[in-house]
Amino acid sequence: MDRIDFRSDTVSWPTPAMRRAMADAPVGDDVYGEDPTVNKLEALAAEMVGKEAGLFVASGTMGNLTAILAHGRRGDGAIVGEDSHTFRAEAGGMAVLGGIVPNPLPTDVYGRMNLAAVEDAVFPDDPHFPTNRLILVENSYGAKGGYPIEPAYFQQIRQIANKNNLIVHMDGARLFNAAVALNLDTKEITQYVDSVTFCLSKGLCAPVGSVLCGPAEFIQQARRARKLVGGAMRQAGVMAAAGIVALTEMVERLADDHAHAKLLAEGLAEIPGIVVQPELVKTNMLFFELADSAPVTPEQFVQCLRDEANIWLSGGYSRRFRAVTHYWIQESDVALFLKTARAILQ
Ligand SMILES: *Cc1c(COP(=O)(O)O)cnc(C)c1O
Repeated sequence: MDRIDFRSDTVSWPTPAMRRAMADAPVGDDVYGEDPTVNKLEALAAEMVGKEAGLFVASGTMGNLTAILAHGRRGDGAIVGEDSHTFRAEAGGMAVLGGIVPNPLPTDVYGRMNLAAVEDAVFPDDPHFPTNRLILVENSYGAKGGYPIEPAYFQQIRQIANKNNLIVHMDGARLFNAAVALNLDTKEITQYVDSVTFCLSKGLCAPVGSVLCGPAEFIQQARRARKLVGGAMRQAGVMAAAGIVALTEMVERLADDHAHAKLLAEGLAEIPGIVVQPELVKTNMLFFELADSAPVTPEQFVQCLRDEANIWLSGGYSRRFRAVTHYWIQESDVALFLKTARAILQ
Protein backbone atom coordinates (compact mmCIF):
# COMPACT_ATOMS: atom_id res chain seq x y z
CA MET A 1 0.00 0.00 0.00
CA ASP A 2 1.68 3.18 -1.01
CA ARG A 3 -1.11 5.40 0.21
CA ILE A 4 -1.50 5.56 3.97
CA ASP A 5 -5.18 4.87 4.33
CA PHE A 6 -6.83 5.72 7.63
CA ARG A 7 -10.36 5.85 6.18
CA SER A 8 -11.33 2.40 7.40
CA ASP A 9 -9.97 -1.05 8.16
CA THR A 10 -12.09 -2.29 5.23
CA VAL A 11 -9.42 -0.88 2.90
CA SER A 12 -6.90 -3.43 4.19
CA TRP A 13 -5.50 -5.71 1.53
CA PRO A 14 -5.14 -9.47 1.93
CA THR A 15 -1.74 -10.51 3.28
CA PRO A 16 0.77 -12.50 1.19
CA ALA A 17 -0.11 -15.61 3.25
CA MET A 18 -3.78 -15.11 2.32
CA ARG A 19 -3.02 -14.81 -1.38
CA ARG A 20 -1.05 -18.07 -1.24
CA ALA A 21 -3.82 -19.83 0.69
CA MET A 22 -6.39 -18.58 -1.84
CA ALA A 23 -4.37 -19.86 -4.77
CA ASP A 24 -4.00 -23.31 -3.20
CA ALA A 25 -7.47 -23.71 -1.67
CA PRO A 26 -9.33 -26.98 -2.30
CA VAL A 27 -12.84 -26.04 -3.48
CA GLY A 28 -16.23 -27.51 -4.34
CA ASP A 29 -19.79 -26.30 -4.83
CA ASP A 30 -20.74 -24.76 -1.51
CA VAL A 31 -24.46 -24.77 -2.35
CA TYR A 32 -24.11 -28.58 -2.29
CA GLY A 33 -22.14 -28.23 0.97
CA GLU A 34 -19.12 -29.59 -0.87
CA ASP A 35 -16.53 -26.85 -0.48
CA PRO A 36 -14.03 -28.23 2.06
CA THR A 37 -12.43 -24.84 2.65
CA VAL A 38 -15.76 -23.13 3.36
CA ASN A 39 -16.72 -26.01 5.66
CA LYS A 40 -13.42 -25.68 7.50
CA LEU A 41 -13.83 -21.92 7.93
CA GLU A 42 -17.39 -22.28 9.20
CA ALA A 43 -16.37 -24.91 11.76
CA LEU A 44 -13.37 -22.89 12.91
CA ALA A 45 -15.43 -19.71 13.26
CA ALA A 46 -18.17 -21.48 15.22
CA GLU A 47 -15.61 -23.02 17.54
CA MET A 48 -13.94 -19.66 18.21
CA VAL A 49 -17.19 -17.99 19.25
CA GLY A 50 -18.56 -21.03 21.09
CA LYS A 51 -21.51 -21.76 18.79
CA GLU A 52 -22.66 -24.98 17.10
CA ALA A 53 -22.40 -23.90 13.49
CA GLY A 54 -21.27 -21.16 11.14
CA LEU A 55 -22.33 -19.75 7.78
CA PHE A 56 -19.96 -17.94 5.41
CA VAL A 57 -21.64 -14.84 4.01
CA ALA A 58 -20.57 -12.15 1.58
CA SER A 59 -20.54 -9.25 4.05
CA GLY A 60 -21.31 -8.11 7.56
CA THR A 61 -24.53 -6.61 6.28
CA MET A 62 -25.56 -9.96 4.82
CA GLY A 63 -24.65 -11.66 8.11
CA ASN A 64 -26.96 -9.39 10.08
CA LEU A 65 -29.72 -9.54 7.48
CA THR A 66 -29.72 -13.34 7.17
CA ALA A 67 -29.64 -13.64 10.97
CA ILE A 68 -32.61 -11.32 11.35
CA LEU A 69 -34.55 -13.04 8.53
CA ALA A 70 -33.88 -16.42 10.15
CA HIS A 71 -34.83 -15.28 13.65
CA GLY A 72 -37.89 -13.18 12.91
CA ARG A 73 -41.09 -12.92 10.95
CA ARG A 74 -42.94 -9.97 9.43
CA GLY A 75 -44.38 -7.83 12.19
CA ASP A 76 -41.80 -8.84 14.78
CA GLY A 77 -40.10 -6.04 16.70
CA ALA A 78 -36.35 -5.61 17.18
CA ILE A 79 -34.90 -3.47 19.98
CA VAL A 80 -31.76 -1.89 18.56
CA GLY A 81 -29.32 0.97 19.25
CA GLU A 82 -30.36 4.04 17.29
CA ASP A 83 -26.77 4.62 16.13
CA SER A 84 -26.00 0.93 15.55
CA HIS A 85 -24.81 -0.24 12.16
CA THR A 86 -27.75 -2.61 11.76
CA PHE A 87 -30.31 0.15 12.26
CA ARG A 88 -28.54 3.01 10.55
CA ALA A 89 -26.15 1.68 7.94
CA GLU A 90 -27.66 -1.39 6.30
CA ALA A 91 -30.18 0.30 4.01
CA GLY A 92 -33.02 -0.61 6.35
CA GLY A 93 -32.74 -4.27 5.32
CA MET A 94 -34.54 -5.66 8.35
CA ALA A 95 -37.62 -3.57 7.54
CA VAL A 96 -37.36 -3.54 3.75
CA LEU A 97 -36.76 -7.26 3.26
CA GLY A 98 -37.80 -8.78 6.55
CA GLY A 99 -40.81 -6.73 7.59
CA ILE A 100 -39.13 -6.46 11.00
CA VAL A 101 -40.09 -3.35 12.95
CA PRO A 102 -37.04 -1.66 14.47
CA ASN A 103 -37.51 -0.18 17.93
CA PRO A 104 -34.45 2.08 18.20
CA LEU A 105 -33.10 3.25 21.56
CA PRO A 106 -30.39 5.80 22.38
CA THR A 107 -26.99 4.54 23.51
CA ASP A 108 -24.51 5.95 26.00
CA VAL A 109 -20.95 7.11 25.28
CA TYR A 110 -19.81 3.46 25.06
CA GLY A 111 -22.68 2.26 22.83
CA ARG A 112 -24.81 0.66 25.54
CA MET A 113 -28.60 0.98 25.64
CA ASN A 114 -30.01 1.85 29.04
CA LEU A 115 -31.19 -1.44 30.55
CA ALA A 116 -34.36 0.01 32.07
CA ALA A 117 -35.15 1.53 28.67
CA VAL A 118 -34.66 -1.88 27.05
CA GLU A 119 -37.13 -3.42 29.50
CA ASP A 120 -39.57 -0.59 28.86
CA ALA A 121 -39.23 -1.08 25.11
CA VAL A 122 -40.64 -4.61 25.33
CA PHE A 123 -44.20 -4.24 24.05
CA PRO A 124 -47.16 -5.49 26.06
CA ASP A 125 -48.82 -8.57 24.57
CA ASP A 126 -51.61 -6.68 22.87
CA PRO A 127 -52.82 -6.63 19.23
CA HIS A 128 -51.86 -2.94 18.96
CA PHE A 129 -48.16 -3.72 19.07
CA PRO A 130 -45.57 -5.54 17.02
CA THR A 131 -44.64 -8.92 18.47
CA ASN A 132 -41.50 -8.94 20.58
CA ARG A 133 -38.75 -11.01 19.05
CA LEU A 134 -35.23 -9.60 18.99
CA ILE A 135 -32.63 -7.54 20.76
CA LEU A 136 -29.77 -6.49 18.47
CA VAL A 137 -26.45 -5.57 20.07
CA GLU A 138 -23.09 -4.54 18.62
CA ASN A 139 -19.49 -5.03 19.80
CA SER A 140 -17.15 -3.22 19.36
CA TYR A 141 -19.50 -0.27 18.90
CA GLY A 142 -18.66 1.55 15.69
CA ALA A 143 -20.53 4.80 16.24
CA LYS A 144 -18.84 5.18 19.62
CA GLY A 145 -15.31 4.97 18.25
CA GLY A 146 -15.13 1.18 18.31
CA TYR A 147 -15.59 0.99 22.06
CA PRO A 148 -15.29 -2.60 23.34
CA ILE A 149 -18.26 -3.30 25.59
CA GLU A 150 -17.70 -5.54 28.66
CA PRO A 151 -19.48 -8.93 28.83
CA ALA A 152 -21.35 -7.82 31.98
CA TYR A 153 -23.59 -5.63 29.80
CA PHE A 154 -24.49 -8.52 27.52
CA GLN A 155 -25.16 -10.70 30.54
CA GLN A 156 -27.77 -8.16 31.66
CA ILE A 157 -29.24 -7.97 28.15
CA ARG A 158 -29.44 -11.79 28.24
CA GLN A 159 -31.42 -11.66 31.48
CA ILE A 160 -33.92 -9.23 29.99
CA ALA A 161 -34.17 -11.42 26.89
CA ASN A 162 -34.76 -14.56 28.94
CA LYS A 163 -37.41 -12.87 31.04
CA ASN A 164 -39.29 -11.75 27.91
CA ASN A 165 -38.60 -14.69 25.64
CA LEU A 166 -36.47 -12.67 23.21
CA ILE A 167 -33.58 -13.65 20.95
CA VAL A 168 -30.29 -11.74 21.12
CA HIS A 169 -28.20 -11.26 17.96
CA MET A 170 -24.80 -9.59 18.07
CA ASP A 171 -23.34 -7.59 15.21
CA GLY A 172 -19.72 -8.37 16.04
CA ALA A 173 -18.23 -6.88 12.88
CA ARG A 174 -15.17 -6.08 15.02
CA LEU A 175 -15.79 -8.70 17.70
CA PHE A 176 -12.15 -9.81 17.80
CA ASN A 177 -11.00 -6.23 18.28
CA ALA A 178 -13.29 -6.09 21.31
CA ALA A 179 -12.03 -9.41 22.69
CA VAL A 180 -8.37 -8.50 22.23
CA ALA A 181 -8.88 -5.05 23.77
CA LEU A 182 -10.66 -6.56 26.78
CA ASN A 183 -8.08 -9.35 26.96
CA LEU A 184 -10.82 -11.97 26.98
CA ASP A 185 -11.55 -15.19 25.16
CA THR A 186 -14.15 -14.24 22.54
CA LYS A 187 -16.52 -16.83 23.99
CA GLU A 188 -16.73 -14.84 27.22
CA ILE A 189 -18.53 -12.16 25.19
CA THR A 190 -20.55 -14.36 22.83
CA GLN A 191 -21.86 -16.75 25.50
CA TYR A 192 -24.66 -14.26 26.18
CA VAL A 193 -26.00 -14.03 22.64
CA ASP A 194 -27.90 -16.54 20.52
CA SER A 195 -26.17 -15.62 17.29
CA VAL A 196 -23.23 -13.49 16.26
CA THR A 197 -21.73 -12.31 13.01
CA PHE A 198 -18.21 -10.98 12.54
CA CYS A 199 -16.24 -9.58 9.60
CA LEU A 200 -13.17 -11.25 8.15
CA SER A 201 -12.60 -8.31 5.85
CA LYS A 202 -11.87 -5.48 8.28
CA GLY A 203 -8.94 -5.58 10.70
CA LEU A 204 -8.50 -9.28 9.96
CA CYS A 205 -7.52 -8.33 6.37
CA ALA A 206 -9.36 -10.97 4.34
CA PRO A 207 -10.59 -9.57 1.02
CA VAL A 208 -14.23 -10.65 1.41
CA GLY A 209 -16.63 -12.13 3.88
CA SER A 210 -18.16 -12.53 7.28
CA VAL A 211 -19.29 -15.55 9.26
CA LEU A 212 -22.64 -15.86 11.03
CA CYS A 213 -22.59 -18.32 13.94
CA GLY A 214 -25.28 -19.80 16.16
CA PRO A 215 -27.21 -22.98 16.94
CA ALA A 216 -27.18 -25.59 14.12
CA GLU A 217 -30.92 -25.39 13.55
CA PHE A 218 -30.80 -21.59 13.28
CA ILE A 219 -27.90 -21.78 10.83
CA GLN A 220 -30.03 -24.06 8.64
CA GLN A 221 -32.69 -21.33 8.53
CA ALA A 222 -30.02 -18.70 7.89
CA ARG A 223 -28.75 -20.80 4.96
CA ARG A 224 -32.21 -20.49 3.40
CA ALA A 225 -32.24 -16.74 4.10
CA ARG A 226 -28.81 -16.40 2.49
CA LYS A 227 -30.14 -18.16 -0.62
CA LEU A 228 -33.16 -15.85 -0.58
CA VAL A 229 -30.99 -12.75 -0.76
CA GLY A 230 -28.81 -14.25 -3.49
CA GLY A 231 -25.84 -14.86 -1.24
CA ALA A 232 -25.30 -18.60 -1.75
CA MET A 233 -21.94 -18.93 -3.50
CA ARG A 234 -20.27 -21.78 -5.35
CA GLN A 235 -16.47 -22.26 -5.15
CA ALA A 236 -16.33 -19.78 -2.31
CA GLY A 237 -13.41 -21.66 -0.78
CA VAL A 238 -11.11 -19.32 -2.68
CA MET A 239 -12.34 -16.57 -0.35
CA ALA A 240 -12.84 -18.73 2.71
CA ALA A 241 -9.15 -19.70 2.53
CA ALA A 242 -8.23 -16.11 3.30
CA GLY A 243 -10.73 -16.18 6.16
CA ILE A 244 -8.99 -19.17 7.72
CA VAL A 245 -5.69 -17.28 7.62
CA ALA A 246 -7.51 -14.29 9.14
CA LEU A 247 -8.74 -16.36 12.09
CA THR A 248 -5.53 -18.27 12.69
CA GLU A 249 -2.91 -15.56 12.11
CA MET A 250 -4.50 -12.14 12.36
CA VAL A 251 -6.42 -11.99 15.64
CA GLU A 252 -3.66 -11.56 18.22
CA ARG A 253 -1.93 -8.85 16.23
CA LEU A 254 -5.01 -6.59 16.41
CA ALA A 255 -3.35 -5.35 19.62
CA ASP A 256 -0.80 -3.56 17.39
CA ASP A 257 -3.61 -1.68 15.62
CA HIS A 258 -5.05 -0.70 18.98
CA ALA A 259 -1.66 0.60 20.16
CA HIS A 260 -1.33 2.62 16.96
CA ALA A 261 -4.79 4.16 17.38
CA LYS A 262 -3.95 5.09 20.97
CA LEU A 263 -0.65 6.62 19.88
CA LEU A 264 -2.46 8.63 17.22
CA ALA A 265 -5.12 9.85 19.66
CA GLU A 266 -2.54 10.84 22.26
CA GLY A 267 -0.48 12.67 19.65
CA LEU A 268 -3.51 14.47 18.20
CA ALA A 269 -4.52 15.59 21.70
CA GLU A 270 -1.32 17.62 21.86
CA ILE A 271 -1.99 19.50 18.62
CA PRO A 272 -3.77 22.83 19.01
CA GLY A 273 -6.88 22.89 16.82
CA ILE A 274 -7.77 19.24 17.40
CA VAL A 275 -10.26 17.95 19.95
CA VAL A 276 -10.03 14.27 20.84
CA GLN A 277 -10.62 12.04 23.87
CA PRO A 278 -7.77 9.51 23.93
CA GLU A 279 -9.24 7.81 27.01
CA LEU A 280 -12.11 6.52 24.84
CA VAL A 281 -9.75 4.93 22.34
CA LYS A 282 -9.55 1.22 23.14
CA THR A 283 -9.52 -0.52 19.77
CA ASN A 284 -8.46 0.45 16.24
CA MET A 285 -10.63 3.51 15.73
CA LEU A 286 -10.89 7.09 16.89
CA PHE A 287 -13.03 10.11 16.31
CA PHE A 288 -11.62 13.61 16.52
CA GLU A 289 -12.81 17.10 15.72
CA LEU A 290 -11.30 20.15 14.17
CA ALA A 291 -11.79 23.01 16.63
CA ASP A 292 -13.44 26.22 15.42
CA SER A 293 -10.06 27.89 15.99
CA ALA A 294 -8.33 25.67 13.39
CA PRO A 295 -6.79 27.71 10.52
CA VAL A 296 -8.14 25.36 7.80
CA THR A 297 -11.57 24.04 6.85
CA PRO A 298 -12.28 20.30 7.25
CA GLU A 299 -12.10 19.90 3.44
CA GLN A 300 -8.71 21.63 3.36
CA PHE A 301 -7.44 19.47 6.20
CA VAL A 302 -8.33 16.27 4.29
CA GLN A 303 -6.85 17.62 1.06
CA CYS A 304 -3.59 18.80 2.67
CA LEU A 305 -3.01 15.44 4.35
CA ARG A 306 -3.51 13.78 0.97
CA ASP A 307 -1.35 16.22 -1.00
CA GLU A 308 1.49 16.45 1.46
CA ALA A 309 1.84 12.93 2.79
CA ASN A 310 -0.53 10.65 0.80
CA ILE A 311 -2.52 10.19 4.01
CA TRP A 312 -6.18 9.40 3.39
CA LEU A 313 -8.85 10.23 5.90
CA SER A 314 -12.63 10.04 5.68
CA GLY A 315 -14.82 12.91 6.75
CA GLY A 316 -14.39 16.54 5.95
CA TYR A 317 -18.11 17.12 5.38
CA SER A 318 -18.39 18.08 9.06
CA ARG A 319 -15.75 19.00 11.65
CA ARG A 320 -15.75 15.39 12.83
CA PHE A 321 -13.30 12.82 11.50
CA ARG A 322 -12.77 9.12 11.94
CA ALA A 323 -9.37 7.47 11.70
CA VAL A 324 -8.98 3.68 11.66
CA THR A 325 -5.79 1.69 11.99
CA HIS A 326 -5.08 -1.73 10.46
CA TYR A 327 -2.37 -4.16 9.37
CA TRP A 328 -1.07 -1.88 6.61
CA ILE A 329 -0.48 1.07 8.95
CA GLN A 330 2.85 1.20 10.74
CA GLU A 331 3.97 3.21 13.73
CA SER A 332 5.99 5.41 11.33
CA ASP A 333 2.74 6.20 9.45
CA VAL A 334 1.18 7.41 12.68
CA ALA A 335 4.22 9.60 13.30
CA LEU A 336 3.94 11.03 9.77
CA PHE A 337 0.23 11.73 10.29
CA LEU A 338 0.97 13.64 13.50
CA LYS A 339 3.83 15.62 11.98
CA THR A 340 1.79 16.56 8.91
CA ALA A 341 -1.33 17.45 10.91
CA ARG A 342 0.73 19.67 13.20
CA ALA A 343 2.24 21.48 10.22
CA ILE A 344 -1.17 22.00 8.56
CA LEU A 345 -2.70 23.39 11.74
CA GLN A 346 0.08 25.67 12.89
C1 LIG B 1 -18.67 -2.91 8.67
C2 LIG B 1 -19.75 -3.18 9.63
C3 LIG B 1 -20.84 -3.97 9.28
C4 LIG B 1 -21.12 -4.44 7.87
O1 LIG B 1 -20.10 -5.01 7.23
P1 LIG B 1 -20.03 -4.97 5.61
O2 LIG B 1 -19.13 -6.12 5.35
O3 LIG B 1 -19.45 -3.65 5.27
O4 LIG B 1 -21.39 -5.17 5.09
C5 LIG B 1 -21.77 -4.24 10.25
N1 LIG B 1 -21.65 -3.74 11.48
C6 LIG B 1 -20.62 -2.97 11.85
C7 LIG B 1 -20.54 -2.48 13.25
C8 LIG B 1 -19.63 -2.66 10.93
O5 LIG B 1 -18.62 -1.89 11.29
